[in-house]
Amino acid sequence: MADKLQPAEIAREVLRRLSLQRTPPTPENYVALYHEIAGTTVTELFPEKALKGIASALPREAPEQKRLGRQIETAIAEKSWDALKGSLVALFDAAGAEAPAWGGLLREVLQQLERSHAGLTSAQKRESLERLLKTSAAPDLLFTRVQSLMRSWAQGGAAETMPSLVDPLAPIEAKPAPAAKAAAAVGPVGAGNPLQELLALVLENNVAVLVGDTPKMVDEAKKLAADIRAAHSPEDVARFAAQLKKYTYRLNFVAEDHTELNSALLQVLHLLVENVGELAIDDKYLHGQISVLLELTQQPLDLRRLDDIQRRLKELIFKQGALKKYLHDAQDRLKTMLATFVDRLADFSETTSSYHDKIELCVERISKASDIGQLSDVLAEVMQETRTIQLNAQRSRDEMREMRHRVDESEKEMQRLQHELEQTSEMIRTDALTGALNRKGMDDALEREVARAVRHEAPLCLGLLDIDNFKKLNDTYGHQVGDRALIHLSAVVRETLRPQDTLARYGGEEFLILLPDTSLDDAVQILTRVQRELTRKYFLHENQKMLITFSAGASELGPQEQPAEAVKRADAAMYMAKRAGKNRVVAA
Ligand code: GH3
Ligand code: MG
Ligand code: MG
Repeated sequence: MADKLQPAEIAREVLRRLSLQRTPPTPENYVALYHEIAGTTVTELFPEKALKGIASALPREAPEQKRLGRQIETAIAEKSWDALKGSLVALFDAAGAEAPAWGGLLREVLQQLERSHAGLTSAQKRESLERLLKTSAAPDLLFTRVQSLMRSWAQGGAAETMPSLVDPLAPIEAKPAPAAKAAAAVGPVGAGNPLQELLALVLENNVAVLVGDTPKMVDEAKKLAADIRAAHSPEDVARFAAQLKKYTYRLNFVAEDHTELNSALLQVLHLLVENVGELAIDDKYLHGQISVLLELTQQPLDLRRLDDIQRRLKELIFKQGALKKYLHDAQDRLKTMLATFVDRLADFSETTSSYHDKIELCVERISKASDIGQLSDVLAEVMQETRTIQLNAQRSRDEMREMRHRVDESEKEMQRLQHELEQTSEMIRTDALTGALNRKGMDDALEREVARAVRHEAPLCLGLLDIDNFKKLNDTYGHQVGDRALIHLSAVVRETLRPQDTLARYGGEEFLILLPDTSLDDAVQILTRVQRELTRKYFLHENQKMLITFSAGASELGPQEQPAEAVKRADAAMYMAKRAGKNRVVAA
């Protein structure tokens, strides 16, 4: 048998194996391997610090919570696992006693179904309960909805109270007599009892679906449903009621896990998106998507919002995919042109150097020439070579000019595509109804325009307009006509403004217009022109010409002024316009 290893040797061996097995060198892995090599057993350390952290996070509102909290702290201080276990069990018992009780609620459902309520038949009650079970997916939501349904039944009818179903818990087991009385009241317990069947269905069809990712809970729900169906005596009822109570406690934990999982996933997504945002600083075309996703991950998930964003992202990705392909093609064309350009340059310099060589030869022949005839031969040759090089030079110059033109064109095309790519990103910042920028898009545009105005020391004006008597239009012709009026107004505004002006939907029937390089007087004139255009371009409803008017306020961003402050001033001016009789523009 080998000699017992010294601690230093064990330590060396541990390090060797950690690196050999490529195991991460964490303290836990080190300890486990150390004991394995030394042939000793792992003696777990008492994680005092971590436990203290947990204890300090426990709630201490109720006196019982305070008492148990103190017990837990003492157990930790004494490093006693037994005492800690005792306190935790007591804590869970106390928590269980106060948990939102599905058991209690189901009991109430059974009681209320048996009670008669004025104006409500049994079938109606069952139908509304089933509808609710079908439409409420989240357990918390289901709980509160069933609760409020019970309240509405209770308030809706002066109940002629029938003896209620027994308390399905302990008392039944202790005193079987009331159980028998209750069973008589709800009809015979056993196969075919509608309430038992309903409860079994709730467990099978609803509860089992809710806990679908916890197979053990699904199995238990099914088993419980089978037990409920098979219950023939009050004693059976008492038994399944006790099981049901235990099950509901666990159901609560599953629901809590779901909620936590949901928020943890959202946090992970948020981090990921933030990270991608950091990496994609130069890819402006990604900014729109990233800001929308960040916004999305900052609030609780909402299926309708998710659906809307998914649809818009798909559209965007498709368009960007096509644009990026064009951009790559344009880049390739540019590269090919540049390569040709370099080739031509090389050709040209080769031709010039061969010209120089030939001229040198001619110079030599001239110096050696003995008669005029020889000289005129050489001169003819020099002229011939010079003419050739001249022609070459001219052709190359033309070719280069042409190529340069094509390169310029190609560059412009690429810039246009890049710009379009960035613009598509803006699609996600627009309001779905009117196509104007939404609030997020408006904030970005405002920031961009303010920075530009400061950089160029140019004036920037804001116009805030609010449709007059819009509520009346909605009330008279309906919301859809109101929606179409909003679309019409945005279209007229956009047609009237310059391309560099920005239109954003500020609120329901309020719009903000950004007018760069515009003085306050001009801004008032532009808004007045939009008003005039609206009187010319009627809004048609069932061939009836309808006049839409708006009141507007205009403000010019002051030096050092915050954009929000300038918006506020425009808003105040707009109210002045309303008070002065509407359909007018007031400068702030
Ligand atoms: P005022 O001339 O003083 O501005 O009166 P108003 O009726 O235009 O203003 P008020 O603020 O009382 O009503 C605004 C209405 O705009 C109320 C709301 O129902 C309607 N509205 C807001 N958003 C939309 C929308 O997207 N579509 C439609 N159809 N109506 C909307
Ligand atoms: Mg308004
Ligand atoms: Mg209005």
